[in-house]
Amino acid sequence: MSDIFDADPSTLSVTGGCLCAEVCYRVTGPLRPVVACHCQQCRRISGHYVAATSAPRESVEIEGDVRWYQSSRTARRGFCPVCGSNLFWDDGGARMSIHAGTLDAPTGLSMAGHIYCADKGDYYEITDGLPQAPGDDPMPGTQGG
Ligand SMILES: [Zn+2]
Ligand SMILES: [Zn+2]
Repeated sequence: MSDIFDADPSTLSVTGGCLCAEVCYRVTGPLRPVVACHCQQCRRISGHYVAATSAPRESVEIEGDVRWYQSSRTARRGFCPVCGSNLFWDDGGARMSIHAGTLDAPTGLSMAGHIYCADKGDYYEITDGLPQAPGDDPMPGTQGG
């Protein structure tokens, strides 16, 4: 394995990875605040809902054998084929989403709001007082179905 973590220590970066450590990644540069997506695809793939940050594609370095699942006409989702951790959402745009729960602490991030709330599960309420959008969100780079 090549070591992607050999970096200039002065570089701003965060790291993360899957549960079994087969897949790890590093993001260099600023990350978007975390957005929770309650769409049915996110609920099914995660078992609840997805909370994700995002970063410019070129700033994300992935090490390990990520498996990609084409989850819609335009988007694919990356997961670890060994432990099944859900890591990435990618629609081929300038940014890719990273599931925030896979980041190493401290992330320095906070939640910005919720999207696809009209599709949320019926067994929970969203009670954190953050903005809720019924569908996609106008923020650029926001994760959607
Ligand atoms: Zn794994
Ligand atoms: Zn979603």
